[in-house]
Amino acid sequence: MPICVECGKPVPSLYTEYSKQNIQLYVCNYCNNFADQYIEHDYVIIFMDLLLHKKQVYRHILFNQLDYVDSGVQPAVKKLAILLILFDVYIKWLKLENIPKIHVLMHYFYILLICTIELCIFHASVRFMIWLIYSRKYEIIKYNYVTIALIISSFSKLLLILMVIWSYDGINYSWYIDIIVFTSNVEALSVFLDESYIKTIPILLFGVLMRTFFSYTIHKFDYNNIYGIMN
Ligand SMILES: [Zn+2]
Repeated sequence: MPICVECGKPVPSLYTEYSKQNIQLYVCNYCNNFADQYIEHDYVIIFMDLLLHKKQVYRHILFNQLDYVDSGVQPAVKKLAILLILFDVYIKWLKLENIPKIHVLMHYFYILLICTIELCIFHASVRFMIWLIYSRKYEIIKYNYVTIALIISSFSKLLLILMVIWSYDGINYSWYIDIIVFTSNVEALSVFLDESYIKTIPILLFGVLMRTFFSYTIHKFDYNNIYGIMN
């Protein structure tokens, strides 16, 4: 069932269609606002509101726009996840560009593996914390929607490409983007859990901490040693 993006309450429908060009938006009985005005907005407005961290736009995408899935993620979200991992690989590759790459392909696949594991650790840690806190409160928790919310709200990582185009040194400031991604994650998760930021931030910080711990450990191990072992 769709929801009102303003108050989060379920609504029977989002609009009434009189003809192809003539639809009337449904007005929510709880808050008297249009249940979902985003169905009439184009993607630029949706993108801008995502950047502005508006709860309404996350409700629109998570509950009204994407097809409901009982498990797993929608194909479009899967494609976005792959794109985000490839962006991570690219950024890590640029940061390590001064290190001689004897086996370029092996080097690439090594970074790809690290980025994929980092993403899995982050998502698994957040899901674990949610299970720990909410499994007694709720009978059913759709953990796949935790993953969907986190992937969609990481879209701002794609802004990194602008930093690369505008200034090559911009890559050193990619942590700006990391902060935007984190705050977007907080917004999306608070919408999904219907909780305050105070309760959502520690859950995500645990995920970031576990991912950072893995990154730190693997860098300490030094990938050159792995090459040495492989050779
Ligand atoms: Zn409402």
